[in-house]
Amino acid sequence: MSKQSVTVIGLGPMGQAMTQAFLDAGHPVTVWNRTPARADALVARGAVRAATVAEALAVNELVVLSLTDYDAMYAILEPAEQALGGRVLVNLSSDTPRKAREAAAWAAERGARFLSGGVQVPPSGIGTAESSTFYSGPKEVFEAHQATLSVLTGTDYRGADPGLAPLYYQIQMDMFWTTMLSYLHALALADAHGIPAEEHLPYAAAAMESIPGFLRFYAPRIDAGRHDGDVDRLAMGVASVEHVLHTTEDAGVDPALPAAVLDVFRRGMAEGHAADSFTSLIEVFRKPSPRA
Ligand code: NDP
Repeated sequence: MSKQSVTVIGLGPMGQAMTQAFLDAGHPVTVWNRTPARADALVARGAVRAATVAEALAVNELVVLSLTDYDAMYAILEPAEQALGGRVLVNLSSDTPRKAREAAAWAAERGARFLSGGVQVPPSGIGTAESSTFYSGPKEVFEAHQATLSVLTGTDYRGADPGLAPLYYQIQMDMFWTTMLSYLHALALADAHGIPAEEHLPYAAAAMESIPGFLRFYAPRIDAGRHDGDVDRLAMGVASVEHVLHTTEDAGVDPALPAAVLDVFRRGMAEGHAADSFTSLIEVFRKPSPRA
């Protein structure tokens, strides 16, 4: 049986990896990119270059978009919107849940169906079954194209609301970026004392590997609204973060990150959580910042 043919619009590192994965799996692929030269290597490997966006839309029902954000989607598709009727747009670009809901409505007004997605791996993870992408949008549309989309990564369908895939994705990215910045800050502190990243690696890995245990311990308590100070107390946490901040300042390293952490801890103290667990800081996060 011949494989479903696909259009890929957007050939950054991610769109290139996706096109390659479709080609490797035997799917005919038509590509379009604002900067045409980004398609050259893929065309040499069998992709077909569409001369225009309208042509890229006309040749395939399934259109995968991999762009910097949703504004790029409008910039590309609006001039060719007469070609959107009957298409299935799968937007795997990062953006907010609100943007995805607006895009689904925009697509529907033009006769297209819409799935949103959040890819949870870097380009090197595209084409591997253990990778995963969140999807949301009409279930029947997802199911009709799941097999083809599975060529890219495993699929995790979150529901009919097109905002759900970006929501789950942004929640993951919220953790990813703060975690990775904490790592870089720790490395700057280590480096100020002549400790290179490779030497610090076992300790960094041990710190990260300890985190799931904390999550499993605290998640049910947080869901139950319990912030018992039986294992840790916020007052202890404040002292600990102050020690990190002072060690940072003594090393001449930028203190912005631990200072921001300390600010959150101090707001928790001001709200009367000194004897509660640090998990009580979720109450601080639930309210908008007084300075916002
Ligand atoms: P890039 O930001 O490099 O994607 C750039 C693509 O968007 C290019 O095709 C670029 O075209 C196009 N583009 C941007 N703005 C416009 C515009 N105004 N008009 C037309 N085209 C535009 O991202 P990646 O390829 O790295 O990733 C794509 C998406 O996947 C992003 O949303 C990203 O957040 C997400 N993602 C990326 C991961 C990664 O590790 N790279 C991991 C997980 C998700 P041109 O070539 O002409 O500049």
